Amino acid sequence: MLPSLTGLTKEELTEHLVAHGQPAYRADQILDWVWKKRPESIELMSNLPKALRQYLTENFSLYPLLAARDLGSTDTTRKMLYKLHDSRYIESVLIPANPALYGGRADRLTLCVSSQVGCAYGCKFCASGLAGFARNLSAAEIAAQVLQTEMLAKDRIDNLVFMGMGEPLANLKNLLQAIELITSPWGLNLGARHLTISTSGLVPQIKELSQHPRQIRLAISLHGATDEVRNQIMPVNKKYPTAMLFDALHEWNANKKQHLTLEYILIEGVNDQLEQARILATHARSLHAKVNLIPYNTVEGLPWKRPEITHCQAFRNVLTNAGVTATLRLEKGHDIEAACGQLRLIQETADGLIQ
Ligand code: SAH
Ligand code: SF4
Repeated sequence: MLPSLTGLTKEELTEHLVAHGQPAYRADQILDWVWKKRPESIELMSNLPKALRQYLTENFSLYPLLAARDLGSTDTTRKMLYKLHDSRYIESVLIPANPALYGGRADRLTLCVSSQVGCAYGCKFCASGLAGFARNLSAAEIAAQVLQTEMLAKDRIDNLVFMGMGEPLANLKNLLQAIELITSPWGLNLGARHLTISTSGLVPQIKELSQHPRQIRLAISLHGATDEVRNQIMPVNKKYPTAMLFDALHEWNANKKQHLTLEYILIEGVNDQLEQARILATHARSLHAKVNLIPYNTVEGLPWKRPEITHCQAFRNVLTNAGVTATLRLEKGHDIEAACGQLRLIQETADGLIQ
């Protein structure tokens, strides 16, 4: 498999070209094609000498993803299915009218990006964890989800949330490289404040990321305010219990300006007790974090249910009455299984695509 031109930083590409006898400015020209002009093939990079185009064609691929399906939802959410070079699949979800939860303006385009094929963390409520973990995505595959979705949608994406399939912080090295490709002026040139990474709570990586110079946003999939509740649904809590997690989040706050977001799915009878809301409120206040409440989205094969809407509102009221900014999130894309937690491993059979 040839490496993709979408995976290299300016520094890496320059070094490669210079080592092959090319002037350094060729890197700027190539990056301008890849990230800005976006031709169909390397052959169309018309200001490069023919020999260089041939060299690039023989040694690199242009875009690493093959668009396999583009599903539109009745609420205008779009789920893009991409085939990878090893015939695995990932999905990216394009969400118009971002409800401004992650720092974006209300009428903008948000892309929900995948970071791995499958997920090893096995949260009990999540479709992505059901079939286990296959592999990490490369930096090229992560960044190209944004580039290629912009090409398909013929529109500019304003915000990214790393909330697709996988645990981004378990793939930190490639994630950081992708962030460089996405935020650099020669790359996608998206402001770091428009990027939100979501994690189930990998403590060492949260600490490492808190040292990162860019002002990326962080969201924590909390889903339980105590170890007792969290242990039942998130195996990762056994390794990094809530006390360790909250410590790491305080460290994040000490290093970062952006406020944290705590994500909390409401699952009937599992984590929706008002006592959990009271404890959650205490933590959110001390972390200056806002809370996103997400009524559980149905996942076929899983027994959970969302609580009555009036109960979800009562849960939210406990938080708002305690002075915490809390939103009850309206789901997007439920009808095409593109909502949170509904992205699962896809396999190809002789009969077509199956989930
Ligand atoms: N692994 C990371 C990134 C994936 S984000 C993480 O867990 O944060 C996917 C988001 O959808 C997480 O907040 C996850 O907890 C949430 N989610 C998973 N299953 C869900 C479901 N069935 N209903 C609603 N949200 C769900
Ligand atoms: Fe993995 Fe996140 Fe799903 Fe848990 S919620 S299984 S960490 S994708």
